Amino acid sequence: MHTTFRSSLFIVLLSFALISCAPDNSAPVDSGPLVRNIEEFNSAVTTLQPGDKIILANGTWSDVEFELKAEGLADAPIELTAEEPGKVIITGESNLSISGSHIVVSGLVFRDGYTPTSEVISFRTSNDELANNTRVTNTVIDDFSNPERQDSDIWVAMYGKNNRFDHNSLLNKGNKGVTLAVRMNTEASRENGHVIEYNYFGPRQTLGSNGGETLRIGTSHYSREYSNTVVRKNYFDRTSGELEIISSKSCGNTFRDNVFFESQGTLTMRHGHYTLVENNYFLGNRKPNTGGIRIINENQTVRNNYLYGLTGHRFRGALVIMNGVPNGPINRYDPVIDSAMNKNIVVDSDHIQLAAGADEERSAPPTGSSMHDNIIMTRTNLEPFTIYDDVSGISFEGNILNDEASVAIDAGFRYVPYSVVENEHGLRVPAMSLVGEIGFGEIKLPVTKDDTGATFYGKEESKKAFQSGQTIAVTSGTNTILEALDSSSPGDTLLLDNGGEYLLTKYASVNHPVTIKAESGEQPILRSEKSSFFIIENGGALELENVWIDGAASPDQPGNNVISTSRYSMNRNYSLVVRDSKVTNLDVNHTFDFLKVYRNTFADSIDILNTEMTNVTGSILSLDKETDDLGIYNVENLGIRNSRFTDIQGSVANIYRGGTDESTFGPIVVVEGNQFTNTGLGARNKSGASLKFHGVQKLDVSNSNWIKSAPIELYLTNGEPITMIKDVVMTDTGNIRANSDEYSTENVTYERALTP
Ligand code: CA
Repeated sequence: MHTTFRSSLFIVLLSFALISCAPDNSAPVDSGPLVRNIEEFNSAVTTLQPGDKIILANGTWSDVEFELKAEGLADAPIELTAEEPGKVIITGESNLSISGSHIVVSGLVFRDGYTPTSEVISFRTSNDELANNTRVTNTVIDDFSNPERQDSDIWVAMYGKNNRFDHNSLLNKGNKGVTLAVRMNTEASRENGHVIEYNYFGPRQTLGSNGGETLRIGTSHYSREYSNTVVRKNYFDRTSGELEIISSKSCGNTFRDNVFFESQGTLTMRHGHYTLVENNYFLGNRKPNTGGIRIINENQTVRNNYLYGLTGHRFRGALVIMNGVPNGPINRYDPVIDSAMNKNIVVDSDHIQLAAGADEERSAPPTGSSMHDNIIMTRTNLEPFTIYDDVSGISFEGNILNDEASVAIDAGFRYVPYSVVENEHGLRVPAMSLVGEIGFGEIKLPVTKDDTGATFYGKEESKKAFQSGQTIAVTSGTNTILEALDSSSPGDTLLLDNGGEYLLTKYASVNHPVTIKAESGEQPILRSEKSSFFIIENGGALELENVWIDGAASPDQPGNNVISTSRYSMNRNYSLVVRDSKVTNLDVNHTFDFLKVYRNTFADSIDILNTEMTNVTGSILSLDKETDDLGIYNVENLGIRNSRFTDIQGSVANIYRGGTDESTFGPIVVVEGNQFTNTGLGARNKSGASLKFHGVQKLDVSNSNWIKSAPIELYLTNGEPITMIKDVVMTDTGNIRANSDEYSTENVTYERALTP
């Protein structure tokens, strides 16, 4: 391997020579020596010369920490690659760190494991040994997530200068921490000129706290330094970890020609100046919390971007210009100065927010800024602009708005008929005459999903939906459900007999999405002799449909439940649906809950639909286990609809999201069409409420009745929560309790008994 030849011809000839000397070596003829284990790797890296290759043998590499220090040359880089791209699978507690220069890494897959350090692929081997002029390409990190949900790590940490990260697939990060971070913690990593391009940033689940950014460049400490990183032609596919898809925290960065597909959150210029955001496409497709571009700081340019079907409000609006903190500390919001938001096209998106976030601290409105020649066509919200403070520091000129819509700014807007058609590229576009007027150019995705990511790695959906698989008939009897669960695959349906009796004498573990149901008709009855019927383990999700859950066979002890999450950290979000079902007799002892959740678990959604629950000594949904006031919580979307709750001693729902963090969308709650009778009044119900919502960001309660029940309790926190309670009747039930009057009510009736 002491190759010193510069000519590729000689390298090829040498490879032939090496292969002929080593009969075991089955590597393709154009490759260098194959290494088969970490010892061989460690030995190979000590002698690397420019032009050398290290080729990892196909197979599974478990618990390996690759450290590659090497000095290649521009025309003779050092390569680390796979025998065949995609066939080297790195698992267990593993990572890769690189330092030196002119190194190319390719063809690797990180899967089924996590890094024991805080970085999976690091462009440094120590604080002062960094990688420069180095490329990582055609590589995959898929769900290489720390099992501890709140243990933070970074999948790719770029240090040094002039590095290129391209054609990689990063998907399914489950734990906290930025997916890809450009670090600027030493001088040698600033003004770095990194290029991040043609990557596939695949689905990132809602984290339910801060720290779910997909891309971050810099940190607040170095945010007034230049990074000069270019992010172009990447595809962000449902990267919905938190409010910030991208958090640009340094100066001089460019974001051009990227596509954001159904991603919750925004491209945020959180810190730093002189950012260019150009020709990016945001396709919200009317999915919840989808956002666009948010300007903070000075000399930012946002132009020629296309934004469609974005529904996000407040900080995750389609276009947002923030208020700042005058002379604030470096980690707060700098005022917007001399920034431009011009020639953008916004179609059927709901919110454009100006001077957003204005409050006592963020009291400096934008100055010296412009909003020119934007086309805004919307029928989804006819008042798309929200103006929170003085916007005289923004000049408005040449903007075009459809004539049903309005904006409370006098000059700078022209009204035209709504004219949106689908163009030949399948995009919803305004009339071409208008597009031509602002000089936007062709409206076409600047990069497709297929153009991005590792060539060998698929982009198909990995998460199976309920009832998307096979149906397994389950005859009534003891533990027949357990046997069926064991043999089921993700998305399968267990079909029970109408009127059948099912007994569980063991815990039923739910390890993947599964539905347990009966056809319409008489409900089968399920009983359990254990303290839980079902345990949703990491990766599991459960749907119950047309079944009757009865607590009569449960052990005579306090603290039983029907459904429990794993008691350990779950780095995969779960969901729970209970539909057309009945729950009775959870009363063999006290504190018999319907659902018990543990810390470090997170539900994307919990839905109780058209279901009747009667006689419960505990609570139905206690989602209050994250008590550290860090903005962490247990459920994103909770829906309780068309259901009846009778004689429930605990609360029906109790959500807790404490702290002042502003980086999440949820919890989001809908309570609609229900009846609550004698609920929440048990002596052990510490909340003293039938429904308690602390820190819920969006709450809709409607068309419901309370009879002889504990009241609703609201604790409104920061983030401008939206709370509406309407068309409800409270009979012999206390008044709504709240810490603030910043909520809305409509048609709330209290009917009181004459005697208490
Ligand atoms: Ca954040």
